[in-house]
Amino acid sequence: MHGCRMELTRVAPDEAVGGDVVSYLSEGVVAVIGAGAGAVAARLAPQRRVIVIAPDARPAEGVTAHGLRASAVSGWLGVFRIAVEGGGELRADVVIDLSAPPLVARSVPPPGYYAPRDAAEITAAVAAAVALVGAFRKPKYFTYAPEICAHERQGQTGCTRCLDVCGAQAIRSEGTVIHVEPWLCQGCAACALACPTGALSVTAPNRAFLLDATHAALAQGGAARESGVLTVSAASEGAAALSAPVLSAYGEELGLEALAAGAQAVALTAEADAPPETRALLAERLAMAEAMTAALGLSEGAVRAVGADAPPAPTARPPRALRRRSRRRPPQRKRDFLSAALARLEPEGGLKPAPLPDGAPAAPSGLGWDTVSTPSRSGHVAKVVEIGRRRNLRVTFNPPNRWRQPLGRSRHDQDY
Ligand code: SF4
Ligand code: SF4
Repeated sequence: MHGCRMELTRVAPDEAVGGDVVSYLSEGVVAVIGAGAGAVAARLAPQRRVIVIAPDARPAEGVTAHGLRASAVSGWLGVFRIAVEGGGELRADVVIDLSAPPLVARSVPPPGYYAPRDAAEITAAVAAAVALVGAFRKPKYFTYAPEICAHERQGQTGCTRCLDVCGAQAIRSEGTVIHVEPWLCQGCAACALACPTGALSVTAPNRAFLLDATHAALAQGGAARESGVLTVSAASEGAAALSAPVLSAYGEELGLEALAAGAQAVALTAEADAPPETRALLAERLAMAEAMTAALGLSEGAVRAVGADAPPAPTARPPRALRRRSRRRPPQRKRDFLSAALARLEPEGGLKPAPLPDGAPAAPSGLGWDTVSTPSRSGHVAKVVEIGRRRNLRVTFNPPNRWRQPLGRSRHDQDY
C-alpha cells in the first residue's frame, strides 16, 4: 500500500452527496487481466460478474472470457476502460491486473485498481473487489486557485512542480492552467507542499486548522513544552504532539511558524509508506527549511525529520522566539504566511550568511521560495528570497529595496 489517504465511505441509499465530496458508483463488474486470471475469476464468480481478459481465457460459469491481450487501463472505480491489442475497449467497475509489469505504472494507483503480486495480495484484492459494489464517496482533498498558478505565462510552460510530484498522476496540464482529476486524487498533499504560490492547497486539513493545532500543541504543556521540540507526524505513525493526516500537509511555512511561536525545534515523521515522489519532495523541502533556518541563525536541525521510533533530542538553541510572537492571525496565502513567519524569526542583528545545503541553492527545481547565493551566485552565502511576479528577487529580511534586483538569465532564473 502507498501512503495516501484512501477514505472511501459507502454512501447510504438516501444520502445526498455534494459539496467537496467525490462520489463513485460501482455495479460490481470485475475485470481480471493477464496470466492466471481464470483462477482468480473463479474465486470471484460466485459473488460478482467477472470478465477475464487474457489470450488463454476460457469461459466458465459466471465468467465472460475475452481471449485478448489488454494493453492499457484508464479510469477509476466504476468507470474503468481497458484497451485491448488490435483495437477495442472493455469496461469494468473494478480491475485486478495480473500483468507483468502491471498496466498502470503509478505509485498511487486509481481507486478500484489492484495489481497483486503474490497469493496474499491476490486474496486481499479479491476481498476488496467483492466489497466494491454500490455508491461510495471520499473527500475532495484539494482546492485550486488558477489566478495565482504559475503554470504558463505568455505561451511558455513555467511551473510543473505539482505534475511532477503527483504519484497518482491526477494532475494534467490544460493550457495556461492545470487540472486535478478529483476521482484520482488521494489526498497525499504532495502537490500542495510542492506548489510555490499556494495555488494548490489541501482542504482536509487546511493550513488554518494545522496552524491552530500547532499553537494548541505548544500551549498545552506536556512533551512539546518541556523539550521545546514540537513533534509532528503523519496520522499513521503513532503518538506525536501534533498529528496530520499526511505529513506533506504540514509545509515548511507551518514549521517556521511553530518556531516563531516558541518551539525550539520541529521534528517531522513521515508515513512509512509514503510514495517515492513524496519522500523525495519532503527531503527537498527539508533541505530548503534547513537553508532558511541557517540563514536565520537558528540551530542546526531546527526543522528536521526523525524516524517513527526516534525520540527528538532537545535543541541547544536558547529560547528567543517567544518575544516575537504575534497576536495577529497569519495571512492565508502560502507565500505571505511564510513571509510573516520568517519576518518574526529575523534575528536582531539581521540576516547572517549561512552555508548552503548540498544541491538546494544551485538546483532550484521549483519556484517561489528558494535560496540564492550572494554576492556571487556560486558563493556560499544564503539569503532567503522570494521570486516575485515581475522577474524580481526580493530578499525578505533587508530593507525592501536594498536587495531588489532584476532576475537575470542564470540557472536560478525562471520566467515569471
Ligand atoms: S499530489 Fe495532489 S493531486 Fe496528486 S494525489 Fe496527492 S493531493 Fe491529490
Ligand atoms: S505547483 Fe502550483 S503554481 Fe506550479 S503549476 Fe502546480 S498549481 Fe500552478
